[in-house]
Amino acid sequence: MIYSNTSLPQKIAILKTALDKTEALIIGAGAGLSASAGLDYDNLDTFNTLFPGYHDRYGMKSINEADFYQFPTPEEQYAWWIRNIAAIRYDYPPGKPYLDLHRIVKDKNHVILTTNTDGQFFKSGFDTDKICFPQGDLSFFQCSTPCNDELYPNEQMVKEIRSHIGNTDFAIPSADIPRCPHCGSPLIPNVRRTKKFVENPWLEKYQILNDFLAANRGKKMLFLELGVGFNTPGIIRYEFEFLFKMRKYAEMIRINLNVVEITLLYKEDRAAVIQGDLGPILSKLAEEY
Ligand SMILES: [Zn+2]
Repeated sequence: MIYSNTSLPQKIAILKTALDKTEALIIGAGAGLSASAGLDYDNLDTFNTLFPGYHDRYGMKSINEADFYQFPTPEEQYAWWIRNIAAIRYDYPPGKPYLDLHRIVKDKNHVILTTNTDGQFFKSGFDTDKICFPQGDLSFFQCSTPCNDELYPNEQMVKEIRSHIGNTDFAIPSADIPRCPHCGSPLIPNVRRTKKFVENPWLEKYQILNDFLAANRGKKMLFLELGVGFNTPGIIRYEFEFLFKMRKYAEMIRINLNVVEITLLYKEDRAAVIQGDLGPILSKLAEEY
């Protein structure tokens, strides 16, 4: 079923009914969840608010564009990374939709698969041991070569380097470029943007999801997909559709702002596609818990 023009109370009722009867909840969260928390990575206003001056100076129109922009010098590249990580991963508070989601699911048997690298789940009180984040996390650096699979927690480094530049500086001092302690290559954010991404530590964590599915075989499962778009649909969207299809008694709910994509789910009685803004939906639903 597709629920587009359905009222908010009706959408809440559908979600509450499904959540109340589930014995094993599998949550998939994409960029739409962070966008509803104010971190819209494709939005010019968000970009200008968090990173004033970048649009005027370089022309990019969003955080996503800046992430893939070829800055003219390493010092400017690092200024973007340092300011980006400091603002989004460390300074930005936990978003209300994440806090609401935590309130809704905290007492339920659940696991989370997310492509978001902004750490919002960790800030909002979710159990780290229940989260798979195969795209990495902005709070880690890795070697740019990479000479090994080691990850380097970067909070102190980032805050120290950030303190050396002002809000109108677009380059960091050359001496501040962080270096791999093993080979001396520059350190880069550990997020999946190029083939150099160090992914082994996260592939190991992916086992959390597999273990959860195995441990809950035969139980009433609900796949709850939140704000997952088409940037990397293979990680959550197609995976959830496949896992859901393979389990005859599982249910699935997809909540998305733009939900008019063709999908097999439309034809399933045990699947619901709810079109709507996650912010108000999670806020209202959290009142029930
Ligand atoms: Zn190295």
